Amino acid sequence: MTTEYTRAYWEKALAETTPKGGIYIDGKLTRAETGLTFTRIRPMDGKPGAEIARGGQADVDRAVASARKAFATGLWRKKDPSEKKKVMVRWAELIRKNADELALLETIDTGKPVMASLNVDARLAADCIQYYAEMCDKLYDEIAPTGPNDRALVRKVPLGVIGAITPWNYPMIIETWKLGPALAAGNSVVLKPAEQSSLTAIRLAELASEAGLPDGVFNVITGYGEEVGKALALHMDVDMIAFTGSTEVGKLIMGYAAQTNLKRVALELGGKSPLVVFADANLDAAASAVAWGCFYNSGETCHASTRLLAERGIVDALVAKIKDVTDREITLAHPLDPSTQIGALIEDAHLGKVLGMVDAGLREGAKRAFGGERVMAETGGYYVSPGVFIAPSNEASLARQEIFGPILTVIPFDTEEEAVRLANDTIYGLAGAVFTSDMSRAHRVSEDIQAGTVWINTYDMSTFATPFGGFKQSGFGRDRSVHAIDKYCDYKTIWQRFL
Ligand code: NAP
Repeated sequence: MTTEYTRAYWEKALAETTPKGGIYIDGKLTRAETGLTFTRIRPMDGKPGAEIARGGQADVDRAVASARKAFATGLWRKKDPSEKKKVMVRWAELIRKNADELALLETIDTGKPVMASLNVDARLAADCIQYYAEMCDKLYDEIAPTGPNDRALVRKVPLGVIGAITPWNYPMIIETWKLGPALAAGNSVVLKPAEQSSLTAIRLAELASEAGLPDGVFNVITGYGEEVGKALALHMDVDMIAFTGSTEVGKLIMGYAAQTNLKRVALELGGKSPLVVFADANLDAAASAVAWGCFYNSGETCHASTRLLAERGIVDALVAKIKDVTDREITLAHPLDPSTQIGALIEDAHLGKVLGMVDAGLREGAKRAFGGERVMAETGGYYVSPGVFIAPSNEASLARQEIFGPILTVIPFDTEEEAVRLANDTIYGLAGAVFTSDMSRAHRVSEDIQAGTVWINTYDMSTFATPFGGFKQSGFGRDRSVHAIDKYCDYKTIWQRFL
């Protein structure tokens, strides 16, 4: 029987749900050692959403010890690869089976439309685990060239205990980007989700146990970054931190690693991605790509196309088309309404930050084309309408700071050389795009934009086969694709002499 996803269906599910907010250690849901909790407020209506365990140093110590024990016993690490695959495939299937529940929990925490949580976030989380499950029995080691009396095996071995620290914008997606390759490689993981988005992390861990992942291989410690995240990143028995979040905290993580055991660090950080549109481009395609690229997920996307570099003569026409796409397609409404395309911002403080950045931009001389204002305040939730602003220059704060809200900044340019210079005039290098009908120019510009991903005449296309990550202060290391496995492994040479 297929479910009919109506607003009433989701309202009933919300009324019947009491989200679990414990920490998950050694295959069991438990309380923080101190017994402390904090209340997560729902962005959709400003009401209490869940009571979450406030983990601390003692909980991190317990989780790391459990992960280390699981690694040492080899119950997972040394498991027959085809058996490992079966466990991970079962886990992916359980995520699909429980997708409605996971989607609702994601929306309670983040305020994103529940149908996006279902059709995008939960679906991609399951697909990611499946993708890496399939890799378990398809990875080969190497034999290095040697003389006839020797054999040198070059083995790829798991690192040990991975600390994963994740943000709140796409919790399930980003967590499975780390869990999939780390676990397929044979590591144990201690995950610290963002304090704003703990609920799906806990359920993912329960479902992993149900699928047969041995106890201790995947633990979740909820709580604050300054407490749990810092304790994990400073821990002497953690071999690597796989981090996604802001550039500011990414720099702290590198410092923690340097101060302690030189643990590996992989950093997926912020962005201020340029989308360059030349006058010869298909403006309808460009407008659609800009609007969806910038406003999807209420702009809370690391690689959002937040800087539109438009050839001077087309600025007005392009902005008019962006407004048209936004009005017709990108419905801002209650997250439980199935027709909603964008929902609430993550929390009250973030709402204030986004509106404050807009005000500062206006004071500096930016011109509002449309939107960028608080709406639906009567719901008690944190909603901002998609907004477009013409910046006086690329020096303007709206063009430089990562706003992480549905705010597009437009900067006109006159020549190809200027477009490339402006595109690269940022500390970030996560993504970019170029729209033109001149393919020689498309390839020149895409080569010259310094970013981990550059799209030509489209935006935000990807599959699990394409690596994702940044250049410059957007970090280093790659999520997704077969290459993501490498960062959770080390090379070990075993040299044998034939006697
Ligand atoms: P954030 O403030 O940097 O937090 C990320 C994680 O780090 C959270 O779990 C946070 O915990 C934790 N944390 C905070 N302070 C810490 C500390 N001193 N030590 C250890 N951990 C600490 O980022 P966010 O606001 O959650 O997410 C938005 C940022 O993530 C944006 O900059 C966005 O561009 C970036 N992002 C990047 C990618 C990518 O793939 N490149 C993807 C998504 C998001 P608490 O939340 O509990 O404080």
